[in-house]
Amino acid sequence: MSTQKVAIVTGAARGIGAGVAKRLASDGMAVAVLDLNEDSCAGTVKAITDAGGKAIAIGADVSSEESVSAAVAKVVDELGAPTVLVNNAGIIRDNMLFKMTVDDWDAVMGVHLRGAFNMSKACQKHMVDAGWGRIVNLSSTSALGNRGQANYSAAKAGMQGFTKTLAIELGKFGVTANAIAPGFIATEMTAATAERMKVSFDDFKAAAAKEIPVNRVGEPEDIAHLASFFASEGAGFISGQVVYAAGGPKD
Ligand code: NAP
Repeated sequence: MSTQKVAIVTGAARGIGAGVAKRLASDGMAVAVLDLNEDSCAGTVKAITDAGGKAIAIGADVSSEESVSAAVAKVVDELGAPTVLVNNAGIIRDNMLFKMTVDDWDAVMGVHLRGAFNMSKACQKHMVDAGWGRIVNLSSTSALGNRGQANYSAAKAGMQGFTKTLAIELGKFGVTANAIAPGFIATEMTAATAERMKVSFDDFKAAAAKEIPVNRVGEPEDIAHLASFFASEGAGFISGQVVYAAGGPKD
């Protein structure tokens, strides 16, 4: 039987998730590239297999318990029991509070919080059975508060409490849970924000970089590096932590 570890990365068709999936594959893991639409995962899967790694595409909606349970069963069948989970799938529905609809609120909570809950619950039994596991959750600097993001900041702060609780409950089974809270990362998500604010993405990134101590915006690889660390064998004594990866201090 193969000893290759199996990882699931949600929202891995593009952006940070794609960067994390590629990195975990180059670290030697077999990776389930999960996103809403299975076809959209093809680019990430191809990049991994072209580089000599192992990956499969999985279409699933993390906010649906049924969809998640079918997806995890498929991963078990095709790759083996998942012992690394990166809860990265996310959406934004930004608006000032007085304009934010209940649908905007529920959609964001559904993907980030219910999604991370569904995925973690479905995967934890495989980690507990293996006596080893790594859960990495994507929070955000928006957890500290951000204008126009009442829904998203609440969800991302929620991810931190969720992470700490998983760390407490699952630690005795060899499972760690940690959160990454990125600052500005150049992806379609931040490109969409630039478009909504009617500025070019280049101008938007340049303005953001001026406020960041390391003088640049982040790239998916910056986050993938930290996810790789949290998922590694040697990180077993680090659990329940939130690391801000934002090119400078945040707290
Ligand atoms: P992105 O480019 O928008 O990618 C997010 C991916 O998640 C998309 O492929 C999207 O699929 C998928 N997704 C959305 N809803 C889903 C669902 N219900 N089930 C499965 N997959 C779903 O975003 P990103 O910038 O890479 O962000 C990744 C994570 O990092 C998110 O949790 C985000 O909140 C967090 N983050 C990002 C930044 C940043 O600056 N970019 C900063 C802090 C935190 P579709 O395309 O089909 O919708």
